Amino acid sequence: MKNKSAILLIYTGGTIGMKESGHGLVPFDFSQIPVEVPELAKFTFKLESKTFDPLIDSSDVEPAMWQKIAGIIEENYDHFDGFVVLHGTDTMAYSASALSFMLDGLSKPVIFTGSQLPVGSLRTDGKENLVSAIEAASAKNADGSAVVPEVAIWFNSKLLRGNRATKVNSTSFDAFRSPNLPPLAEAGIDIHYNTHLIRKSGTELRVHYNLDTRVAILKVHPGITEQVARNVLLGEGIRAVILETYGSGNAISKPWFTDIVAESARSGRILLNITQCLAGEVNMDLYATGKALQEAGVVSGADITTEGGLAKLFYLMGEYPDNEKVKSLLQLNLKGEISK
Ligand code: ASP
Repeated sequence: MKNKSAILLIYTGGTIGMKESGHGLVPFDFSQIPVEVPELAKFTFKLESKTFDPLIDSSDVEPAMWQKIAGIIEENYDHFDGFVVLHGTDTMAYSASALSFMLDGLSKPVIFTGSQLPVGSLRTDGKENLVSAIEAASAKNADGSAVVPEVAIWFNSKLLRGNRATKVNSTSFDAFRSPNLPPLAEAGIDIHYNTHLIRKSGTELRVHYNLDTRVAILKVHPGITEQVARNVLLGEGIRAVILETYGSGNAISKPWFTDIVAESARSGRILLNITQCLAGEVNMDLYATGKALQEAGVVSGADITTEGGLAKLFYLMGEYPDNEKVKSLLQLNLKGEISK
């Protein structure tokens, strides 16, 4: 594989770029990154960086930040072969999902990474994550094309599709999983790419900046009250609701619940069914409790993650004013976010 590349690091914040201040963790000046990670000097290609000002804990991520990341990538697209986004882990799966829909026609890698321990601390996982993310962003096929022309997350020796990943552990270095899709790559002595899983290269980048965020998430649970279900499903200013359901897409079968769901669907709202289970998929044909949702007009999210479903809705609703159009596109595999 050819290895000559130019990579842009986009540093947004998060634990990876923090150090102890005596009053908790604070971000350090990213221009100091070569001091903290001297290994970077061993890359023989151009490595440049852009730093967000202010740097943010990823708990404060908003769609405006995704638009900013997308803008930086679009502006610099012709000058770099790949992009590494340093990002807090808490919302990394949301951001990677969003960018996977916003960056259409990608032919270059956009690799998110971060760490559980600051890069300046002795046992940090940040160095290994950063170095490997740069490797994945710069990997090329014999013909010079990118090995991973998609939005992905590098974490703990694994490369996961961005819109399939979810944070599953707040303390382990093994913090991310892609429950319904095997890793796109795994690192041992070498990085082994599962090329059959990696998406085909696009031809021309087209960035979709419009996002409509009028989405609510309703997690069904025993004891949920009619008032709560009504407030969310029929709430003002809500264009779509993600129903986080049990198992293969089941919810409460009591008429009060299905009536509210049906009323919400009749009002034109988009209702997307995503399972609360970490792995597996929604199949509303299986049980009467799921069938009732389907008959009421709920759309199956198949095996999408909540992060992926939210991003898909933001993107589709930003693109299409017609809810019926959004509902039909939700059922298609647009960016590898579902298994069909
Ligand atoms: N709170 C931090 C963040 O998401 C945690 C991390 O980076 O791991 O920004």
